[in-house]
Amino acid sequence: MAETFAFNADIQQLMSLIINTFYSNKEVFLRELISNASDALDKIRYESITDPEKIEAQPNFYIKIIPDKTNSTITIEDSGIGMTKNELINNLGTIAKSGTKAFMEAMAAGGDISMIGQFGVGFYSSYLVSDKVRVISKNNDDEQYIWESGAGGSFTVQKDTELVHGEVKRGTKIICYLKEDQSEFLEERRLKDLVKKHSEFIGFPIELYVEKSKEKEVTDSEDEEEKKEEEKEGDEPKIEEVDEEKEKEEKKKKTKKVKEVSHEWEQLNKNKPLWMRKSEDVTNEEYSSFYKSLSNDWEDHLAVKHFSVEGQLEFRALLFVPRRAPFDLFESKKKRNNIKLYVRRVFIMDDCDELMPEWMNMVKGVVDSEDLPLNISRETLQQNKILRVIKKNLVKKCLEMFAEIAEKKDDYKKFYEQFGKCLKLGVHEDSTNRTKIAELLRFSTSKSGDELISLKEYVDRMKEGQNDIYYITGESITQVSSSPFLENLRKKGLEVLYMVDPVDEYCVQQLKEFDGKKLKSTTKEGLDIEDEDEKKKLEELKAEFEPLTKLMKEVLGDKVEKVMVSGRMADSPCVLTTSEYGWSANMERIMKAQAMRDNSMTSYMVSKKTMEVNPKHSIMSELKKKASADKSDKTVKDLIWLLFDTSLLTSGFNLDEPTQFAGRIHRMIKLGLSIDDDDDALADDDLPPLEEVEGAADEASKMEEVD
Ligand code: ADP
Repeated sequence: MAETFAFNADIQQLMSLIINTFYSNKEVFLRELISNASDALDKIRYESITDPEKIEAQPNFYIKIIPDKTNSTITIEDSGIGMTKNELINNLGTIAKSGTKAFMEAMAAGGDISMIGQFGVGFYSSYLVSDKVRVISKNNDDEQYIWESGAGGSFTVQKDTELVHGEVKRGTKIICYLKEDQSEFLEERRLKDLVKKHSEFIGFPIELYVEKSKEKEVTDSEDEEEKKEEEKEGDEPKIEEVDEEKEKEEKKKKTKKVKEVSHEWEQLNKNKPLWMRKSEDVTNEEYSSFYKSLSNDWEDHLAVKHFSVEGQLEFRALLFVPRRAPFDLFESKKKRNNIKLYVRRVFIMDDCDELMPEWMNMVKGVVDSEDLPLNISRETLQQNKILRVIKKNLVKKCLEMFAEIAEKKDDYKKFYEQFGKCLKLGVHEDSTNRTKIAELLRFSTSKSGDELISLKEYVDRMKEGQNDIYYITGESITQVSSSPFLENLRKKGLEVLYMVDPVDEYCVQQLKEFDGKKLKSTTKEGLDIEDEDEKKKLEELKAEFEPLTKLMKEVLGDKVEKVMVSGRMADSPCVLTTSEYGWSANMERIMKAQAMRDNSMTSYMVSKKTMEVNPKHSIMSELKKKASADKSDKTVKDLIWLLFDTSLLTSGFNLDEPTQFAGRIHRMIKLGLSIDDDDDALADDDLPPLEEVEGAADEASKMEEVD
């Protein structure tokens, strides 16, 4: 009995999108089904290495394509791992993966259906060409089952008791009942071209069921044959001289050619694995086609590195950098299939963590080792010395590849937009290669305009006498470029790197210097950009301003660590800096956002702030005068708080108490409008919170209405 199941809602939506979108490039379905078949074969082959019994029922590994013009179906059959009943239900219909939604979003954003494979929902592309799809599958752990759906929201699964389509020893047969206008996929030529184009480098034989018609010579008719027989019987045997010419003539007359149709399997992919060939002998088209079948990408790769290592240890590798980051590059929990590990041409696994550091997870490729044992298990991988050496080599080659991309400006721009974040994580994680990776970083700066520059370019154009590399971290270029922290640096003509990616904070935590120059945050203490004269002057001003800075510290209490005069600013009265080794304002912002996500806000997440005062600013000198006249002046206190609050904002922090801030501003506005405090019933020493004020106003108006 067939059981009926509803497709998961997202998958339903995906299927109707596939069915209803006008889309001419329907051929991708074949690539997707072949790629699934190949994955299924990889799985069983890997299992059979440790447990040869698993392939006893079917020791051959193959993919077969069978076009059937009579029934208008195309069948893709594999002797892979197969699916149990439950797997048929789960994998082909009830469990939606994150890629399902992401794929639809990509479509809505103008993406192309051929991207489907990258989102892990390739199977459903069969509905580009089919009205109905039937999947017959046999896994070692279950009996043979049939899955079937004509789309429309549901599918059925039943035990295959009749074996209408024959017995499957192990593996999967996918029968696509082609739509009326899709008969092109029954044509041998078309299928051969498609396999060549998309699936040439699949590591299992792909066999096409082809029709062979042989011309055979047969005699003209049965009648004649019979007559001949009769003649023979009646005749006396004669000895005759043979006239060869005459005999030929006779034969010609009496025979004709007929077509004899037979079927054969023709293997379509006979090339040896691409990575086994010499790189000089491989064309870029071949690399690109290999890359696409490896990655499911629909675009060409951006860069490729093909090499072999010989000597004590032998392996070959073929590595690619894509043009685009996948939609889930930073979904850290996701297992990635980036580097396929082979041992002497046998696929072992495609998510081997031990081969590549995490930050390089954008690189895709193949590694084929001559030295590893075939039956290597996941557990032993971790301590495997060979693997460690391979990894080291891969990292080195990847860095070379990145550096090569960097030689081409346009390519590098693309690369950096997509994978700059990965490099920054690399700086954070990889202490051995930190310097090399740092050379690959690019930043906007206070002088670079729209360009991004490297640290080397920065150092090369440093001003005479400049010892440090200056940077500012923040939320956006707009925010950091107008920051008060840059005022004096700008005046002095010192260039500042803009670091506006959250990862930058993590990156500079580790990248303490470059080319012998220290990296210095412009928002932290200890910037030290003043020359000797300026320093001397500051010392004098420090003494002069001491009463004010002391008062400010008293008023602000533990909101600030200390208050001091500084030469950092030109046009702003004051800023808030953080300690050299603590969090910057930007880091505080990032951590707060993350804490919200984790729901565990902790109190240590507050940067220690120093209020730096610009002694040359008129506000500060006036305030100094006012404060020395009357230390307990309420306006002075108010002004100190106002300066603190505005500094919070301009220095990249959040306002803790926006209501109080607004209250103070309102008092200033009243002052500006010459509203006397006494005239206003609401003007009170302890400012009530704004909601209360508004509530009171509401009450008042209601009462008026009643009146
Ligand atoms: P993906 O293959 O990218 O995971 P698909 O939608 O193409 O996504 O397939 C969903 C799942 O169905 C696969 O992950 C696999 O478990 C299973 N599957 C599909 N085709 C086959 C097959 N030929 N043999 C065995 N399992 C298959």
